[in-house]
Amino acid sequence: MENNILSLVKTQPSSTAGHIYLVGAGPGDPELITLKAVRLLQQADAIVYDRLANPALLEHAQANCDLIYVGKKRDQHSLPQEQISELLVALARCGKNVVRLKGGDCFVFGRGGEEVDYLNQQGIKCTVIPGITAATGCAAATQIPLTHRDHAHAVSFITGHRQNGKIDINWDIALCKDSTVVFYMGLCNLEDITTELVKRGCPADKPFAVVAQGTSDQQQVVVGNLSTIAKKVEGAALTSPALLILGDVVKANGYAQYLADQTALKLADTLSDAV
Ligand code: SAH
Repeated sequence: MENNILSLVKTQPSSTAGHIYLVGAGPGDPELITLKAVRLLQQADAIVYDRLANPALLEHAQANCDLIYVGKKRDQHSLPQEQISELLVALARCGKNVVRLKGGDCFVFGRGGEEVDYLNQQGIKCTVIPGITAATGCAAATQIPLTHRDHAHAVSFITGHRQNGKIDINWDIALCKDSTVVFYMGLCNLEDITTELVKRGCPADKPFAVVAQGTSDQQQVVVGNLSTIAKKVEGAALTSPALLILGDVVKANGYAQYLADQTALKLADTLSDAV
């Protein structure tokens, strides 16, 4: 283990190992978290938290709790995943009860599986507490139902992230009829994703929404269709994290469009203030 990590573990090893709780912090609004998660935050000896976990949640911690930030930005790993796992083991071996706090749900694009696997291999007891994932959080906040008897009989969560320079999407899933497709980590690749979907036969007028900082008071929404959304987003100065929602459900009621209009109005205000 590297020195910088060891320095984060402030106590000596103990004969009784502590317990690790992988806790979903929810999508942004600090009230969108389970009662169980709040109780564990209040009781934790250490909280190891990510960039997407709302820092307001740390106010639940007791005064002597160690607060350890291991946040990552895209392409900028402040702590590699293996080191985070090793840190959790080291803390548990000092007898600490640790909350590993992750944005949304730990098992939806949260690397929770890798951490649980490592902890089990090392004989450290762990428990997973589910969180509200960005898809359900953003869907609720914009009143876009992910499934709907008239529009979508299935929903898929897909990563729109690029790996080794390539978008690795299972296009068959993304093109499924009568279904909603939610892309996580896709904002930077929005233009490539929408272009490819149209090329592969998805109707260009398929409704599409982008929700940035969903559920927070900074939420921004842009609504369009496959052929217009990339241009609209370009002009909207969105701040990540952002979620992409493709499917007829986007038009199931007008609320998402209303929110998108508010986003456009706010942007126009900001621009007119700037001149
Ligand atoms: N485990 C998390 C996802 C982590 S991957 C979860 O269950 O939500 C990070 C991606 O999640 C971001 O790139 C973005 O696509 C999405 N995301 C997380 N929080 C979000 C938010 N408040 N609004 C919009 N998208 C969000």
